[in-house]
Amino acid sequence: MGEYWVPVGCPCCASRTGGGTCPVCFWTDDGQSDVDADVVRGGANGDLSLTHARLNFAVYGASHPRYQDMVRAARPDERP
Ligand SMILES: [Zn+2]
Repeated sequence: MGEYWVPVGCPCCASRTGGGTCPVCFWTDDGQSDVDADVVRGGANGDLSLTHARLNFAVYGASHPRYQDMVRAARPDERP
């Protein structure tokens, strides 16, 4: 019995997509988390705060409406 490697959960949609740009919501994990979720960092996520991206994901199924056609559903092993 070994240890399982569990990919990190996306801070936006919580899918276990392992960091980087999440294929499920298109949020790019830049280390932002609950503690600074309201901050607009202006990096890979442009003018989106994490809070705003989470809201968008709830409404549009993507961290920003412009990503709606680029995202895919989370695979069973990626679901939070
Ligand atoms: Zn995500």
